Amino acid sequence: MSQTTSIGPLPAIFLPEVFCCHDNGELLSIYLHVPFCHTRCSYCDFFLVTRLDHLDSFFIALSAETLAAAPLLKGRRVKAVHIGGGTPSLVPVRLLARWLDLLSSLCTFEPGMEIALEANPEDLDVPKMQDLRVAGISRLSLGAQSFQQRKLSALGRRHTAEEAREITSKALRAFDTLSVDLICGVPGESPEEWQRDLRAALSLAVPHLSVYMLSAEPKTLLERRIARGHVSLPGDAVQAAMYSFAIETLCSRGYEHYEVSNFAQPGHRSRYNLACWMREPYLGFGPSAHSFIRTGELEVRRANSGSLLRYLAGPPAAASTEEVLTEEERFVEKVFLTLRINQGLDVEFLRKHDKLGQSLSGLLDLFLAKEWILLEDGRIYLTGYGFLFADHIAQELISV
Ligand code: SF4
Repeated sequence: MSQTTSIGPLPAIFLPEVFCCHDNGELLSIYLHVPFCHTRCSYCDFFLVTRLDHLDSFFIALSAETLAAAPLLKGRRVKAVHIGGGTPSLVPVRLLARWLDLLSSLCTFEPGMEIALEANPEDLDVPKMQDLRVAGISRLSLGAQSFQQRKLSALGRRHTAEEAREITSKALRAFDTLSVDLICGVPGESPEEWQRDLRAALSLAVPHLSVYMLSAEPKTLLERRIARGHVSLPGDAVQAAMYSFAIETLCSRGYEHYEVSNFAQPGHRSRYNLACWMREPYLGFGPSAHSFIRTGELEVRRANSGSLLRYLAGPPAAASTEEVLTEEERFVEKVFLTLRINQGLDVEFLRKHDKLGQSLSGLLDLFLAKEWILLEDGRIYLTGYGFLFADHIAQELISV
């Protein structure tokens, strides 16, 4: 997940007294966006740079941003910290540890909280994993993407299949929990190749898997290669079959399909990601990070500037954009996010927004006929097949 926050000059809505008086006792989550990678993968459109010479300055600016957020953090209990990017595992552990120490001095870390770090296999060995554990990292999110060399080469990844297997196995012993990212639908990938990846993850007993279908995002190298006819992605039907196979395989092996792309053994869900999907408050740090803050009746989303140079100039220069959500925007978010995590979307909640009165019933009948949804106790749940159309279904539901 890519995310961020800069606490620049605070507008009236962010006066600390306002925030503190109306935090409702909700636990807070924190995101840090580390915008550095060794190289850019062909399919990646995240905000990052591939020159590492600003790494130390970045952590100086991050300290300034974190200190500027002290009024927002004061008295808050934090349930999850997620360090993403970019590739946070390329950062010296001492810099991450120092930031975590600073953060923990400004708020209260809940006992047993989750501190997760996104990592690439090529950056890790046992001593580094031990150091990360000592620094407080409890959950590793490993960007393995595949356990097969052909796929890794097609994706332009720097690690080998052997490293992916070896580090996965060692990380299982080093951290409380482990998540592994897998990509399907790589150019030239057959259903059998995808099945081998899933079998490898199962044989390694990975407790959490994030499964993504490769897509050609605008302005990426992959998009240009496809446009020039150099490569092509498997067709929609093949990708859908791969995704369906993942759902069937993982659910039959005890994984809970708790979000469109995420599967967890009991007790291994991502607490930070769930907080975002459940619209709980979180603060983001680093360039391009987002925050979601609830102050009394108001809900505010803010985004940091996606410029490293502005970020390095200090919190005021890294000014963020922010908006107070309207009733309609809250409704749209709730529909999209609740469907993604399949927690059951209340039909009555939708009916209140059904302008024509009849259109919602007709739409639900259509979705039932297509076997995209189930209706239970007045709530809508997506079927495994329906997850493929989650955004389309949400879009239709908010349009009635
Ligand atoms: S390692 Fe991850 S964040 Fe970095 S370029 Fe590759 S996909 Fe993007």
